[in-house]
Amino acid sequence: NPLLEVDDVVVDYRLRGRATFRALKGVSVTVGPGECVGLVGESGSGKSTLGKAVLGLTTVASGRITFDGTDITHARGAARRRLASDIQVVFQDPYGSLDPTMTVGEVLAEPLVVTGATRAQARTVVAEMLDRVRLPTDAVHRYPSEFSGGQRQRIAIARALVRRPRLIVCDEPVSALDLTTQATILDLFLDLQRETGVSYLFVSHDLGVVRRLCHRVAVMYQGEIVETGSARQVTQDP
Ligand code: ADP
Ligand code: ADP
Repeated sequence: NPLLEVDDVVVDYRLRGRATFRALKGVSVTVGPGECVGLVGESGSGKSTLGKAVLGLTTVASGRITFDGTDITHARGAARRRLASDIQVVFQDPYGSLDPTMTVGEVLAEPLVVTGATRAQARTVVAEMLDRVRLPTDAVHRYPSEFSGGQRQRIAIARALVRRPRLIVCDEPVSALDLTTQATILDLFLDLQRETGVSYLFVSHDLGVVRRLCHRVAVMYQGEIVETGSARQVTQDP
């Protein structure tokens, strides 16, 4: 059974006045347990919108999104907060999820503390996740701004991992990094998948990135999925 099932999802953005723009025109895609599904396509094709729909960050006009058999299409408030233990996100810009006024330790402990973990429990999990993303334990005392772009992305990934999600929506998570750093972060995503069985919905405009990481790839064009296949099928020249 798929972990995530997106079925015929339509998203309309409200423009000025009564006008709307249909950013998703009935999109269907599934992600199985431990699977990495790539979402590729040119800029503006609707990739981020699909990620946002899964994360509950945009309103779905019609269609259905289910996670592990539960309808989450319109989950908001408490229901959405509970989903944070299952679905997490890593954005292109780690500052999106890293509060610069908090130390790395605080950033990573926060999702645990707000859900009732003791400080001691949080400290243990934070140390485990820093280890998982190959950052030194003493990073907890430092601020995100003290780290390089690649290391900040490791912090953002650790932050996504602390609740032990089953799915991570990755929205261009390596696009802001230089090529060498991209390769090390992609290796990290691969290792995490092997070590934890986590699934990814992986948004990227970069076919090379997707080929390295993803089992299946969906190609988006103007709000629709126009092709689905193995990374090799989808990325080979016609
Ligand atoms: P991608 O991630 O593939 O670059 P997006 O999902 O960000 O594409 O955007 C899809 C389309 O929706 C684009 O045409 C974009 O301009 C439009 N769009 C995205 N966000 C909004 C918004 N908040 N309001 C209106 N239009 C939007
Ligand atoms: P168990 O949960 O019984 O320890 P697992 O095979 O589920 O065994 O996990 C192996 C290791 O990976 C454990 O240390 C666990 O805490 C960790 N882990 C499992 N799922 C995740 C996840 N989604 N994110 C981060 N770590 C995880």
